[in-house]
Amino acid sequence: MENKEKYPQLVPVFQDLEQIIGKDDYDMWLRPATVEFDGTNLTILLPNEFWGKTIRDRYEHTIKEAFLKHIGVAISVIYQVAAQPPVSPVKSVRDIIIESQPVRVQPAAVNPFAGRLNSSYTFENFIESPSNRFAYKAAQAVTKKLGSRENNPLVIFSSPGLGKTHLLHAIGNQISKDNPSAKVLYMSGEEFVSEYIESLQNKVQDSFRKKCRTLDCFLMDDIQFVSGKDACIEEFFNTFNALFESGKQIVLSSDRTPQQLEWNERLSSRLLSGITTEIKRPNLETRIAILRQKRDSINFDIGDDVLAFIAEGIQTSVRELEGSLFRLMSYCGLNGVTPSIPIAKELLSDMLVVGKDKSINVNAIKKIVGKHFNIRMEDFNSKRKTQSVAWPRQIAMFLTTDLTDLSLSEIGREFNRDHSTIVHARDIVKEKIDTDPFFAATINQIILDIKTVDSK
Ligand code: ADP
Ligand code: MG
Repeated sequence: MENKEKYPQLVPVFQDLEQIIGKDDYDMWLRPATVEFDGTNLTILLPNEFWGKTIRDRYEHTIKEAFLKHIGVAISVIYQVAAQPPVSPVKSVRDIIIESQPVRVQPAAVNPFAGRLNSSYTFENFIESPSNRFAYKAAQAVTKKLGSRENNPLVIFSSPGLGKTHLLHAIGNQISKDNPSAKVLYMSGEEFVSEYIESLQNKVQDSFRKKCRTLDCFLMDDIQFVSGKDACIEEFFNTFNALFESGKQIVLSSDRTPQQLEWNERLSSRLLSGITTEIKRPNLETRIAILRQKRDSINFDIGDDVLAFIAEGIQTSVRELEGSLFRLMSYCGLNGVTPSIPIAKELLSDMLVVGKDKSINVNAIKKIVGKHFNIRMEDFNSKRKTQSVAWPRQIAMFLTTDLTDLSLSEIGREFNRDHSTIVHARDIVKEKIDTDPFFAATINQIILDIKTVDSK
């Protein structure tokens, strides 16, 4: 992507894409593109329609995943044919020679597909938990004994965002580490389909077959994308058999169970002849552990209390869990504020499980705030204006707007005030939270206390 300097926040996204897609393909298809990004829409300007189609078919999924991972947003991709083809800087022959030198010095025996492995997905940074333990252990076992009868094929399935792709890359990275010359190919089902079709069009089927069938380990992600396309399923079946029969390792992932894939029986029974394992949703402890690990790996200063809050609210996918952390990090970084539960709540409202707070009642809020600031229950509704009473009262009002579903006028009634007083209290407390990290920490603690009391 040519103009990435314009969007410094996107640099890690493009670096990751280059890793995942592989330098050659990235140079070929993505580097020449010019992009515009407005926060949710990524517009890719390209020299012609075919170019756009190729990117869409092959890489859109990966591009979207990279954005979700690094920026925390589910983007839409728009393709535009540029009026003038983007011009690549003209290279001198000397530049080309210099650039191509590293390729020449590479030892010939290195896995030719190493560029397709994403080195950031390893066994070490995968948090093991009861929900994924079997898949994790099976994945490790595969790397120790490639192609052994009992582990072949390994099929991992789960709903999206629970670590299948991570484990597939971890297997590939581990094998490459143990034996750099092992031929390990990572490919998604979509890539398989599009590369196969392309090989038919360009009449290079043989080299496609050779590539896929002379491997030590074939990691194919998201095999559900091969469904429904007969010729492709047939090709996949033949690839599978060729590898399987020569004792080569196959690892597959899918967001459907092998039964749901509706493949022909021969293939299905083969698929089930090794290990089939499901990754389930992580429990709360695991979600917290994952967030902590991500926090530490990106060096983001965010308290355990805020992490616990996010982990409670995001239950279905680790990808969303990560995305929320990245979103919070970008927001707090850009605005110079300290991450707090109220900020997380507002910023992540579309991702958090809603409705859980309905049970929190105003009395629990008053009780905890009262205890914290040493004021009596009746002070919340009294007209006393001394600061020592007025400020905690405003905090309680703010928390009621934040933690319950009550309308502003209902909250007004609870505090014996009108609705504009509530709005004012909400705004000044929020302002203080955003500007004073110590105060934000106090509020976070109060929220946790309220939740604990309320759930008893
Ligand atoms: P899937 O392929 O099942 O849709 P991914 O492997 O892409 O899911 O996982 C989504 C994100 O969550 C990735 O960034 C991955 O690193 C992370 N992730 C998933 N499970 C774990 C885990 N157990 N420990 C650490 N990170 C995880
Ligand atoms: Mg995946």
